Amino acid sequence: MRIECIAIGSELLTTRRLDTNSVWIAERLAALGLGLHRKTSVGDQREDLAELCLEAFQRSDLIVCTGGLGPTFDDFTKEVWADRFGVPLQEDPQCREVLVAWYAQRNRVPPPANFKQVLFPVGSEPLANPLGTAPGVWWERGGKRIVLLPGVPREMKRMWVDHVEPRLKPGAGGALHSRRLVVGGVPESALDQRTEAVRATHCDLEWTILAGLTQVELILRGRDPKALDAAQADLEVELGEDLARVGEGDLEEAVLDLLKARGETLATAESMSGGLLAARLTAIPGASGAFVGGAVVYTAAAKVALAGVDTALISRHGTISEATALALARGIRERLSATWGLAITGNAGPSLDTGGSNRALGDCIVAVAGADQFETRSFAMPGERQDIQLRSTAWALDLLRRMLAGGLAPKR
Ligand code: AMP
Ligand code: MG
Repeated sequence: MRIECIAIGSELLTTRRLDTNSVWIAERLAALGLGLHRKTSVGDQREDLAELCLEAFQRSDLIVCTGGLGPTFDDFTKEVWADRFGVPLQEDPQCREVLVAWYAQRNRVPPPANFKQVLFPVGSEPLANPLGTAPGVWWERGGKRIVLLPGVPREMKRMWVDHVEPRLKPGAGGALHSRRLVVGGVPESALDQRTEAVRATHCDLEWTILAGLTQVELILRGRDPKALDAAQADLEVELGEDLARVGEGDLEEAVLDLLKARGETLATAESMSGGLLAARLTAIPGASGAFVGGAVVYTAAAKVALAGVDTALISRHGTISEATALALARGIRERLSATWGLAITGNAGPSLDTGGSNRALGDCIVAVAGADQFETRSFAMPGERQDIQLRSTAWALDLLRRMLAGGLAPKR
């Protein structure tokens, strides 16, 4: 089966928006053992879309279009496909009721333009959209299948899972399963070396090492879930405490889950990362179960005022020092009555303002403080300012994660 994706929207041809829909669909197809053969982005121009629909219908068996189902003048995906087969659009009475009810629930009536969203090519089937006003379309023509979904990623994903996946049969070899392992604090090349033997033992699996800015992921794929279990077990032995997480989620989820399991809480004090660490933690739903809050302690004055750091200590050691980092972690822990305090200080550049200490650009210090144990680490990080800031949050999260997982002999 040849499958292709068409991402519709002029913004997708600029730097304003990336087509994330097609890559997400590709990932879901891969899990079914189905491959995506082609993906194209096209602007909101009727002729361009019409030409592409014509080609796509000739070469592919399943064509998935996202976007252009909205109420505005530049939304015409259904019209173009209907024209392609010389078929008129017809209102679906049930969809009309759903649309009216959607607005009624918000004490409004649908604007006239929205009624075009309940018109469908004759012979096609509307697909309900529980998260928005644009229904999708399922259309079978000449043994081929055309799926039209809204561009809004959240709506598209929900409808893909609800309506499209149940109608797709897994590929010939059966569904492809995947396993994701997140590794903290190990460079990509070191991970490559350390997993060499395990990869050789489990060479029937497809292996990917994906290095991000703040963590490295190992992705394993295979048709037999037992083979994945076996490889995971070997990796757990090989990686030990370096293995941060199995499944979805990143270092922040790993830390939050560990804290929740221990019934403990966390507070943060951030200098060079300016709140990024707190942002990462609060991006996770349910973070309040373990994350109390934090402070952005950018200047020395803020370190004193918000985390109770001693002015004399800062003058003696400088803002970028183990002593200051630890005082920040201890101070915020106490002020917010948390089990753990986590602090970041450093210099993200580009200029070298080291607050009186002789630290280099990219130097970062993270500190963890608990009731009777603490830990500090210094790192020298390469990269641009934003990269350094983001990396510092990963080092901080990973240090705390290791302490919570019991992999570090703590200083007391
Ligand atoms: P539309 O369905 O064309 O009205 O698009 C609705 C919203 O979804 C707009 O904000 C689009 O920028 C966004 N969008 C459309 N297509 C995609 C895509 N392929 N990937 C990510 N976002 C998209
Ligand atoms: Mg659009």
